[in-house]
Amino acid sequence: MRAGLFGGTFNPIHKGHLMAAQRVLHQFNLDHLYIIPCRKPPHKSSAYLAPVSDRIRMIQLALPEDARYRLSEVEVQRGGPSYTIDTVEHFRTGIIPGADLFLIMGMDAFLEIHTWKSQRRLLESVQPVVVTRHHGADREETRDDVSRMGSYIHSRLSADYGFNAERTCWRNDGGNCIHLLPTPPVAISSSQIRQRIRAGKAIADLVPQAVNAYIEKKELYQ
Ligand code: ATP
Ligand code: MG
Repeated sequence: MRAGLFGGTFNPIHKGHLMAAQRVLHQFNLDHLYIIPCRKPPHKSSAYLAPVSDRIRMIQLALPEDARYRLSEVEVQRGGPSYTIDTVEHFRTGIIPGADLFLIMGMDAFLEIHTWKSQRRLLESVQPVVVTRHHGADREETRDDVSRMGSYIHSRLSADYGFNAERTCWRNDGGNCIHLLPTPPVAISSSQIRQRIRAGKAIADLVPQAVNAYIEKKELYQ
């Protein structure tokens, strides 16, 4: 069993999330991919945070009709700030014991992982799969990402990790892996969507149609 865990605020879920999820699902041949909205992100302010019931409903509306995609409400039900290590333990010991777990995240999230709770244990329990995010510049972004990630891993996580260029992953002596999935970045973020709504601009090209309709109906982010 191979399962992807994709946590985030999803405020709201958008096409960038969905494309990243789809790529990892295929590339890593996952049996399941869990979208896991957090109740309250530990590293973010709660300004413009839509109610969790709305964020969940939008995920339900956005997910493709494919039984491999699942919504997990574990962080919502747990209460308090959402720590990824607690979520991983929940899956590892309760939901799918023995599964290979892949932690899906954008580059921006990965570059903060040294500040996360129990990051050492986290890296022993899951294999991060890092997807490129748009930097807004016209550069060779994949090559940049490899060097940025490599220096981050060695300076902030551990010098033990060696790079495998063929697989674009770093592996340490204990066999723990960190993957980079080099793909063209999708220049969409939830903050950009919220800003556009506040400015009275359309967001139809950034979210699935049903999500757009839901945001309009509930007058979210205005
Ligand atoms: P915000 O702008 O509010 O931070 P966001 O678009 O970054 O929202 P999050 O809910 O913070 O969305 O992100 C959840 C996860 O999805 C993070 O790991 C983030 O890096 C990743 N992610 C978000 N947007 C993209 C995208 N366009 N491409 C790849 N990964 C993304
Ligand atoms: Mg974000």
